[in-house]
Amino acid sequence: MRAATAERLHHAYLIVGRSGVGKLDFASLLAHALLCEKAPDKAPCGECSRCALNAAGTHPDINRLDWIDNARVISVDQIRKLTSQLTLTTTYGPYRVAIVNKAHTMTRAAANGLLKTLEEPGAGVILILLADNDAHLPVTIRSRCQRVVLPLPEKSQALEWLAGQKVSNPETALEFAHGAPLLARDRASEVDLGAISDVKLRFMGFLTRDFESTELARITADVLGTRDALTLFLQWTTEHIKTAELSAPNSRTSSNGHRSERRFLSRALERLQDALRLDNPSLKTQTVLEGVLADIRIMRVRTRAETVQ
Ligand SMILES: [Zn+2]
Repeated sequence: MRAATAERLHHAYLIVGRSGVGKLDFASLLAHALLCEKAPDKAPCGECSRCALNAAGTHPDINRLDWIDNARVISVDQIRKLTSQLTLTTTYGPYRVAIVNKAHTMTRAAANGLLKTLEEPGAGVILILLADNDAHLPVTIRSRCQRVVLPLPEKSQALEWLAGQKVSNPETALEFAHGAPLLARDRASEVDLGAISDVKLRFMGFLTRDFESTELARITADVLGTRDALTLFLQWTTEHIKTAELSAPNSRTSSNGHRSERRFLSRALERLQDALRLDNPSLKTQTVLEGVLADIRIMRVRTRAETVQ
């Protein structure tokens, strides 16, 4: 908005951030502010006639591109249509804004099709590309955009927002979405959050005390798929290392027991990372988890034996 006020807006922005962090909402807000009669020095007023058009999704100076019918790609035909629309003069204000959601899924031809517009955008054209991971975008695209990283919000901020969205069990929902609040909201209705928080309690018990790993594998496989389960196990183990203050390697209070615990946990982390990397979708979740958890149990026994020696 400061750039808009100073008339120093870049003609193309690449907004990068994890899935579910709110890139599309952010881009829409930005576009609405640019098109509002009263902005661009602040958020859209929500009262003027152009804001009303935006609220109805019918503002003629804004174009949105997204997957059609869950196509999983942005096609060259979509880009061609967009680039021809961008040559039209604007109806109201100085700007014509285009938002390309999931730009990282543009086909090669689509990305090439967008290049010319990026090189020679028409007057007042502002392109906003959104990408979960911009490593998938060609350098030719990336180098012509101003990159804006949208980070994950603070946990407390995300939890407060989720509570406001009436998500029950916001803590577990946020963990399940790896900290991305919109994803947490959307997935909260798909999974049994109560059951996941029960799995967490048992997993923490497994890490800190001895626990029957077969039973834990069975209970986990009842509510989670392999990837989700392993990702959560990783997250919980990392969290345990942090909260138990086991991460400082040369802390003065570091006892033999602490060091041994640290060694065990870092081995457990490695084992979980390997399992996630080697994830074979044809294997049953319970079978995979049983194997991983049994290995972690053995690691604990071995690490303790090393410490005693
Ligand atoms: Zn307005």
